Amino acid sequence: MTQLEMARQGIISKEMEYVAAKEKVSPEFIRQGVAEGTIVILKNKNRKDSNPVAIGKGLRTKVNASVGTSPDSTSLELELEKLQVAEKAGADTIMDLSTGGDINGIRKEILAKTKLPVGSVPIYQTAIEAIAKYGSIVEMKAEDIFATIEAHAADGIDFMAIHCALNFDVVNRLKKQGRTMDIVSRGGAFLTGWMLHNQAENPLYTQFDRLLEIAKKYDVVLSIGDAIRPGCIDDSLDRAQVQGLIIAGELVDRAREYGVQVMIEGPGHVPVHHIHSTIQLQKELSNQAPYFVLGTLVTDIAPGYDHITSAIGGALASAAGADFICYVTPAEHLRLPTAADVREGVIAARIAAHAGDLAKGVKGAAEWDLAMARARKSLNWEEQMVVAIDRERAEKIRSERAPLNSSDDVCTMCGDYCAMKVVSQYLGVPAGEC
Ligand code: SF4
Repeated sequence: MTQLEMARQGIISKEMEYVAAKEKVSPEFIRQGVAEGTIVILKNKNRKDSNPVAIGKGLRTKVNASVGTSPDSTSLELELEKLQVAEKAGADTIMDLSTGGDINGIRKEILAKTKLPVGSVPIYQTAIEAIAKYGSIVEMKAEDIFATIEAHAADGIDFMAIHCALNFDVVNRLKKQGRTMDIVSRGGAFLTGWMLHNQAENPLYTQFDRLLEIAKKYDVVLSIGDAIRPGCIDDSLDRAQVQGLIIAGELVDRAREYGVQVMIEGPGHVPVHHIHSTIQLQKELSNQAPYFVLGTLVTDIAPGYDHITSAIGGALASAAGADFICYVTPAEHLRLPTAADVREGVIAARIAAHAGDLAKGVKGAAEWDLAMARARKSLNWEEQMVVAIDRERAEKIRSERAPLNSSDDVCTMCGDYCAMKVVSQYLGVPAGEC
């Protein structure tokens, strides 16, 4: 049985108990959320020694870090280093998006090297293998697509981005209205090219039941890929995007009926004033399915700083109800990320997720901030470092300019004119004793 089927029968699985303890909620809260489809638990039946992670309503907003080779950078060692860095920086899940080198070997190695849930986008591998096998992506067969999906599931992949909500209704809508950036989803682009060349409907849409069968067998969480997500601010919330969302919502209903856990992937590039509507629309159209947003990036003009543009969007999206944030690194739109980029991206996304959790009132979020505020008021530098989301960076920056002419319980910003120190004399609570 899948976690969804168990939850519906009133069974609390060991995975539900595990994630409940992590989230500091009751196992019954998790069971109910899974049964309703507002919570999913990432845990492939074939992965015996990984730790499940729950995503959804009432839970901490999770952060995904994507790693993986490209045709220009096929080093397994580098991707394993990025995996390690992402994990150390606090990523909740990893996605292997490899498109270069030994893709099967890399996936197995990543699954073996982490206990975090691992996701993938099987269409990447199918498309690449179609070029080797038939000379072109447009020659790939439906059999190839489903064989790759099954292979990923059998290996233990816990969640998969599948572009099953892309059909001719969406493509025709896109052609009719026109768009500044057309399609920026890689999977969406491969499938649209295939559909138009072959004048055939997307097999992932027409054979959705086949997909559900595989997902159910391994309890893989389907992440309905946002093939039509806006790739620039100008395309946000256009008719094609909304059409894709309507179809994704219909597929959510079918997956739930079949006993398959499902979430929806979202944009992308979204201006601040569209974020709330985007999240609300997804939640309404999918009966509150967990929402996995890619960013969201609130402006197009900052290459090199897209971990910041996406952290702004991620915080607002999380506050509006998004449940899962895919990190964006400073290398976005420029090149494959390095290990240092990965670290920066994970921390930025975690800050965004936490800011959203504060707004949503997620358990434990406000207490974390309170701990920092108390440590700051009492000028307890050791405690500030312990509580900091990135202790390494906080310690490095403080040590670069330690107080020379002032007492060492302050910092070099104000020295002995430290507001906390001064005011404590007049309020009668000495700094360090609150
Ligand atoms: S010296 Fe200024 S910046 Fe530094 S801790 Fe005191 S009030 Fe804050």
